[in-house]
Amino acid sequence: MFLNGRLQGEPRLEVRSPWNGALAGTAAMDSAIAVDQAVRAAAGYDRRLTGERRSAILTETAGLLRSRREALASLITAEAGLCYRDSTREVDRACANLRIAAEEARRIHGQTMELTAGEERRMALTIREPVGTVAAITPFNRPLNQVVVKVAPAIAANNAVIVKPSEKAPLAALELAQALVDSGLPAEMIGVVTGDPAEVGTALVTHELVDMVTFTGSVATGERIAAAAGMRKLLLELGGNDPLIVLDDADLDRAAAIAVGGAFGNSGQSCRGVKRILVTPGIADQFVGRLQERTRTLRFGDPRDPATDVGPLITEQYAVAVVEVCRAAVAQGARLLCGGHRDGAVVAPTVLDHVDPRADVVTDETFGPVAPVIRVGSADEAIEVANSTRYGLQAGVVTNSFDAFLSIASGLRVGAVNLMDGPNFDSPYVPFGGVKKSGLGREGVRFAIAEMTTFKTVVLPWLPPWPGGGCMQAE
Ligand code: NAD
Repeated sequence: MFLNGRLQGEPRLEVRSPWNGALAGTAAMDSAIAVDQAVRAAAGYDRRLTGERRSAILTETAGLLRSRREALASLITAEAGLCYRDSTREVDRACANLRIAAEEARRIHGQTMELTAGEERRMALTIREPVGTVAAITPFNRPLNQVVVKVAPAIAANNAVIVKPSEKAPLAALELAQALVDSGLPAEMIGVVTGDPAEVGTALVTHELVDMVTFTGSVATGERIAAAAGMRKLLLELGGNDPLIVLDDADLDRAAAIAVGGAFGNSGQSCRGVKRILVTPGIADQFVGRLQERTRTLRFGDPRDPATDVGPLITEQYAVAVVEVCRAAVAQGARLLCGGHRDGAVVAPTVLDHVDPRADVVTDETFGPVAPVIRVGSADEAIEVANSTRYGLQAGVVTNSFDAFLSIASGLRVGAVNLMDGPNFDSPYVPFGGVKKSGLGREGVRFAIAEMTTFKTVVLPWLPPWPGGGCMQAE
């Protein structure tokens, strides 16, 4: 664990590269007792750290990460198998989130409120207070930035935070905690616990001194955590199976480039990515041809090679499951145009055409490099199919008709819709999150800060302005 500003405990958790099994590093196998220690240390934190100081700490942390960009990217590639290019992007995004959280730390304000008739002799103020101790549970697929999007706003808002990173890739989270303390964050404001999720995760989300749980991961785990957490603040960022809708009037080269970027980026292990491609009849054959052509140019294999586009999945079992779900789709009538096989944990970039909208590969979340094409009869049918699953994170639409886009955008039940782009937009400035089973609440620095603060209302005696103003008097 990371407690009192340093690593502690026996490093019994071996973290191995999903590419070649090489040891990427070690972490502790913490127990429920360790979790209790970390939460109790956090609960006593001193809340007098000013916004200006928190801002300086976050800025300094961004600078430290930036100065270690290549080393951190190599660590992320080693522990999670992300392609080196994706890992450097991961570090850059983490730095951006820290810098924007640093800006926001200086402007967390309440309001003053005039009251109603009969209450003229009072005024109300709202003060934004930190929720207290935040438990942050994060997934394997973005081992640094997924931690930063929780930790940076939590600290900006003056909370203490205990992180439980994925046991599959916990090393970058430990580096982040060290960088925060090295930048001057009081040690009790950041802790990291690692190990068996059933023990450590459960102990954390049920601890009486944890005030809020912010979780990113699968729907199944999110539901388990929501049930265990009981009555405390909850923010859930869960899975998705985002559609990309390509209409008859689309620029097909652009549509194919968007589809390839969205389906195969981060080796397909992305919550927001192209998981289903819905195409209308006029361009379906041409579009599929271009999609296949582009996919065949992708390089897959060693994630350490900067030229690699698609690397391994997090474990070989995940790769087996992805190949299996593609085979099942073919058994249900889909045509396999390329890929559909694996070597170890690496799944070759796969394109499936004529996929049945009821096939598991598109109704569930397929966390791998697969581009399944569903042929639909019209834009209206695209909306219906897009809405037919339990998820609702993002969608992308490729069309030159703004009217068609507006009607699709208003018909989709999702957290965000992108025109002429894939369903994979993410910026520290915008609200990020889903509807339906894709989540509850919003991240994005300013929006996460709103989730991580509560209003305290203070009512003061006040005199109505002129005439008869003067000194403030109690009633
Ligand atoms: P996961 O649900 O298996 O694990 C997520 C985290 O929960 C890990 O740290 C894990 O150790 C922990 N955990 C597991 N069981 C727990 C328990 N009983 N109590 C407490 N913690 C527990 O997810 P994963 O496989 O690591 O990540 C992939 C999933 O994350 C995908 O579904 C993906 O869509 C989702 N994801 C969502 C977003 C988003 O912003 N919506 C972003 C990234 C990933």
